[in-house]
Amino acid sequence: MLLQGSSTKRALIPFLIVFLCLLIISCVNPEDKYVEGNIKITEKEFAETLGNLPADVAENILAKRAVFLSYIEKLINISRQDENFILFPVDKTRFLPETFRPSDLVDLEREGVSVARRGLLLRANAAAALLEMHRAASSEGILLSAASAFRTFEHQRNIHNNFIRTHGQEATERFSAPPGASQHQLGTAVDFFPIAVEFKDTRAGRWIKENGWRYGFSLSYPYNFEEITGYMYEPWHYRYITKEGALVEREFFGGLQFLFLNYLAEHKGFFKERLAVE
Ligand SMILES: [Zn+2]
Repeated sequence: MLLQGSSTKRALIPFLIVFLCLLIISCVNPEDKYVEGNIKITEKEFAETLGNLPADVAENILAKRAVFLSYIEKLINISRQDENFILFPVDKTRFLPETFRPSDLVDLEREGVSVARRGLLLRANAAAALLEMHRAASSEGILLSAASAFRTFEHQRNIHNNFIRTHGQEATERFSAPPGASQHQLGTAVDFFPIAVEFKDTRAGRWIKENGWRYGFSLSYPYNFEEITGYMYEPWHYRYITKEGALVEREFFGGLQFLFLNYLAEHKGFFKERLAVE
């Protein structure tokens, strides 16, 4: 009897182990699971980062979260290598230091880009992307011509003050950035010729709207978002945010630069921390 009893118990052991394993697995909350990839973040933590985004944007990101986070990892590495605010939102609440001037500015005309006026400068990476875009447009018979590019803090202050004198403070704030708040100080923003709303209906305006992202260029002040961006629609003003950045902005943020750059600025530190965790 005794012998028989202990062998029955022994036979039960594997079943018991399987049962315990199932019990443990069922106790792990699905929200505590980690999202696949190198950024060590739980499903719950990740979903929380999406809290301030429009529902459709958040849903789309959530559905492709592993791919999204692999892009975020690339973007973190880009901004690590580049200390010049390449993916940093610059707006009426986030200013650049008065002394900020990128060290790698190049002359656009000398680089082979078509310009509407001499002496235009951009950072080397943005200028190279602009040249590539200019050539692609040219091959389709379209002329993309730069009309304004890098501006120093001082230059922006003069322009802004002149506008205030001629247009008044209130009107000026709708289209001209105060010094330190201009993307032009980054050395990665370009105004295309002509600097006018009509640009959107030109062949160049339509082409860049359709293709700019392929070369890393993003429309900064889209139509109907003045309340959020702080500026009226500027179809001629594009900012270089790297090809990877423009791709993520298009794929996941509906092509809205402020949405994308704000999300990145808000959560980059957290993602960076989790990327460092072994
Ligand atoms: Zn501009």
